[in-house]
Amino acid sequence: LQKPKVLIKNRFHPDVLLKAKISQNLEFSLFDSWYSACAQSEGVEALIIRSGTQIQEKWLNQFPNLKLIQTATSGFDHIDLKLCAERGVAVAHCPDAPVTAVAELTFLLILSALRKQGQIFAQMKKGDWSRETLVGRQLQGRSLGIIGCGRIGSKVAKMAQGWGLPVAIFDPYLEEAPKGVELLGYEELLRTSDILSFHVPKTAKTRHMLNGSTFEMLSSEVMIINTSRGQVINEPDLIQFLRENPTAMAGLDVFESEPVPRESAVVNLENLVASPHIGASTEESLYRSSLAALQNVESYFAEGQLADKLPPQALWWQDGQK
Ligand code: NAD
Repeated sequence: LQKPKVLIKNRFHPDVLLKAKISQNLEFSLFDSWYSACAQSEGVEALIIRSGTQIQEKWLNQFPNLKLIQTATSGFDHIDLKLCAERGVAVAHCPDAPVTAVAELTFLLILSALRKQGQIFAQMKKGDWSRETLVGRQLQGRSLGIIGCGRIGSKVAKMAQGWGLPVAIFDPYLEEAPKGVELLGYEELLRTSDILSFHVPKTAKTRHMLNGSTFEMLSSEVMIINTSRGQVINEPDLIQFLRENPTAMAGLDVFESEPVPRESAVVNLENLVASPHIGASTEESLYRSSLAALQNVESYFAEGQLADKLPPQALWWQDGQK
C-alpha cells in the first residue's frame, strides 16, 4: 500500500525528524524553499511548514493532491485561510508549543528595559566600567496589565504572580478571570498599569489597539511590552510617545514591518529594548512544535482527527473579521 507523501520544511527539530523518517505510515521528505517543494510535488498530500513559507495561490496550484497544511508554529498570518478553504485543504497550527518561551521572553524584555541591559552590555564591551548612567529600576512594586489572556497571557499572569506583582487583565472574551487576577475595562487597565503587556491575536479589532488617543491615557513612566503582533501598536505613535516621555519604556519582539531596518527609530531609542521576533525560538519550543506537527499529521491520515484546526473556532476570531 502506498503511504501518503508529506513534505517538511527543513527548520524542524532533528530528533523529531528522525521519528518522521522511520514512520511506518507516512513518507516524509524535506524541502527548503517553494522551488524545492514544487520539484517534488507529485502526489504530495500534506505540507508541514513554518512562518517563512507563505501559502499563496501560485504555489498551491502546484499541489493538486494536497489535503493538509500543518504549520509547526502558533502564528498563521502566512497562510491564506480563505484560499485553503476554497481548495478543500485542511489547515492546523501548534498554539501550545511556544507558550512558555514567549512568556519567559516577556519577562526578559521587562527586566532588560528596567535594568538598561542593552546599554550595560554595549558599554562593558567597550571596556567602560562607569556606572553612573546605568542606574535602573526594580520590578517589585509595579503592577502588570495584560491585554489578551489566552494561552500566553495567562502564563504571563501566573509567572507575574510568582514575582509577587499585582496583575489585572483586559480580555472581553473571557468569561471568568484567572485566580488572583482582576478583570478591568481596557481604558482602566491602560490608566492604572505600570507595565502593559500585549498578548492578543492579530485581528481587525486588535489592529492599533494602542494608538495616538490611547497613548494619552498612559502614565509617563509606563512600560509597554509587545510579543504578540506588531500591528497591535501604532509604531510611529509609540516612537513619538517614547521620545516625548523619556521615563517611559518599551520592549518589543514584534514590529509592524519585519525585518526592521538598522536606521529605524525602533532600534535607536534609548528607552526601547527589542528582539527580532524570537518569541518561540527556544530548543524546547522547536521540539514541541515539531512533535505536535508530526503527531497531528499522523493522526489526520490514520484516524481523520486534526487538533488545533484553523480558522480558530473562538468568538474573537469571528468578531475580529468584521
Ligand atoms: P490565544 O488565542 O491563546 O489567546 C488570545 C487571547 O486574546 C484570547 O484569550 C482572546 O480572548 C483574546 N483577545 C482576542 N481579541 C481580543 C481583543 N480585541 N481584546 C482583548 N483580548 C482579545 O493566543 P496565544 O497563543 O496566547 O498568542 C497570543 C499572541 O502571541 C498571538 O498574537 C500570537 O500570534 C503571538 N505569538 C507570538 C510569538 C512570538 O514569536 N513573538 C510566538 C507565539 C505566539
